[in-house]
Amino acid sequence: MSAVQQVADRIQALEPSATLAMSQKSRELREQGFDIINLSIGEPDFKTPKHICEEAKKAIDAGFHSYTPVPGIPELRKAIADKFKRENNIDWKPENIIVSTGAKHSLANALQVMVNPGDEVIIFAPYWVSYSEMVKLAEGKPVILEGSFENGFKVTAEQLENAITDKTKVVMFSSPSNPTGAVFSKAELTEIAKVIEKHENIFVLADEIYEYINFMEEGHFSIGSIPAIKDRVITVNGMAKGFAMTGWRIGYIGAAEWIVKGINKLQGQVTSGTNHIAQRASVVAWDDMTAAETMKRAYLVRRELVVKGLRDIPGFKVNVPDGAFYAFPEISSFFGKSDGETAINNSDDFSMFLLLKAHVATVAGSGFGAPNCIRISTAASDEALEEAIARIKAAVATLK
Ligand code: PMP
Ligand code: GLU
Repeated sequence: MSAVQQVADRIQALEPSATLAMSQKSRELREQGFDIINLSIGEPDFKTPKHICEEAKKAIDAGFHSYTPVPGIPELRKAIADKFKRENNIDWKPENIIVSTGAKHSLANALQVMVNPGDEVIIFAPYWVSYSEMVKLAEGKPVILEGSFENGFKVTAEQLENAITDKTKVVMFSSPSNPTGAVFSKAELTEIAKVIEKHENIFVLADEIYEYINFMEEGHFSIGSIPAIKDRVITVNGMAKGFAMTGWRIGYIGAAEWIVKGINKLQGQVTSGTNHIAQRASVVAWDDMTAAETMKRAYLVRRELVVKGLRDIPGFKVNVPDGAFYAFPEISSFFGKSDGETAINNSDDFSMFLLLKAHVATVAGSGFGAPNCIRISTAASDEALEEAIARIKAAVATLK
């Protein structure tokens, strides 16, 4: 390829999204006629609740077709501020809210606004694939801090304290976690907050997109509700997971006003306000939580099914995820084995083996900073999950 046909250095340095790549691969195999069970992408298999769809239709008919204010329509910013107060005990005003094109966009915006070249961003691992790449795009340095399998994949406050340097700017994590399903308890987040409180130049980027898919008895706790660090917590959330609205592309942030203003400036030059109809529809989402609760119950049933099924397969080590819709088994016992044709030396080999031999699409843990694991989405029907587990069991039995 000639030099002129090369994309810019920042794009060359970027890893492609492992989740989207695997999903694309399984789509291609399906198109070739293979019966693929796609447990790669994390996407609810439910339809968006009816009351939200009805509101979108009304918005089209009422002529809400124009650009919106860059940070979102006032009605949605108010609905989100009310939600933060009611459900998360975070007292934000509409001026503290900015709506973007999905939580992915909200996260990328926040990092662009907070990170200077060379700043360190501590990412709790296993982490969602896009975090490290977003940090690199912001010219920051990802510092990966690993939660152990034994501790349910959760980083401790002590580990965090030890990783902080005078270059640390942001600490970011998701709870409930993608990819592990781990959920930080109130007690654990309080300990983490105590560390943050001591370092007054450090900010927290708390990704709470799986908030409504939380099986812990104590429920969801937001680190942003801790008064001592409230102004230094950027809380990210969105409609995609809890309301099964992935394609509607609505994410949002609650943060100190100066941060929201910074994001507003960036968004005003790059994307403008997001989709008007999707914003109108989102305003009414919280009016009826029945569908969100029904979906959560379904994910819980599937969690039981998948954890039990995978634990029955020799060689799989499986944690019980407390939230989200993923299982994240440790599969390193298969490294060094082969079915006579394919040698398994890492999680990428193993995930590819499952795709080609069992026709089950998963995502290798390597993209999540966990090279001994694979991610299996449980956002599929009970029948599909049962069939997938049976296929995986049969395929790995051929590995010697
Ligand atoms: N954060 C995490 C942890 C996710 O799993 C996802 C899923 N895509 C996102 C953010 C982005 O969500 P959205 O679809 O709203 O961009
Ligand atoms: N969050 C989902 C996943 O992890 C969606 C895919 C993506 O946006 O990367 O699979």
